Amino acid sequence: MATSRLPKLVAFDLDYTLWPLWIDSHVSSPLERDGDTLNEVHDKYGDTVAFYHEVPQILHRLRAAGVVIAACSRTTATVLARRALALLLLPPKAGNPESPAMPAIGFFDQLEIYPGSKITHFKQLHKKTGIPYSEMLFFDDELRNRNVESLGVTFHLVSRGVNNTCFERGLESWRAKHLEKVLDALPDAAT
Ligand SMILES: [Mg+2]
Repeated sequence: MATSRLPKLVAFDLDYTLWPLWIDSHVSSPLERDGDTLNEVHDKYGDTVAFYHEVPQILHRLRAAGVVIAACSRTTATVLARRALALLLLPPKAGNPESPAMPAIGFFDQLEIYPGSKITHFKQLHKKTGIPYSEMLFFDDELRNRNVESLGVTFHLVSRGVNNTCFERGLESWRAKHLEKVLDALPDAAT
């Protein structure tokens, strides 16, 4: 299958998009990791925080393609969310089992984690990266955050966490909206 053009920035919400919990109400400090356990940390009561299982390879794919990766969350638990990202170890890229596991936070070029409308989060992303909104694709499980479309961001609603199917659908919806960018990127673009 031919690979097609990716957006320049892909942003993910955290709660119920990358992990199956609300970090502000389901998790209690301190978070800890047992040794080098992959994709799992636990809180004060032994409850675990882990990405949905297809998330690590999706992050690897984006990173390998040079796409800017952002986390956009309106949680009030800003410190705990960052701590979870810092502690979670991503499994090696598929096909490279010998490569070292890396902390998830290293995959995120931008972190916008604070309460309020996500319009603010995306305005900050645009200001910090200079990337146009038309090059941004956002995955989020809450419909209210679709308001970022008013900026020109492509919003993809996540129903049961990000997985490969949902990710591909998001890419398809971005490509459908920006066909001219996709065609321009083809080696023999139809004229
Ligand atoms: Mg959410």
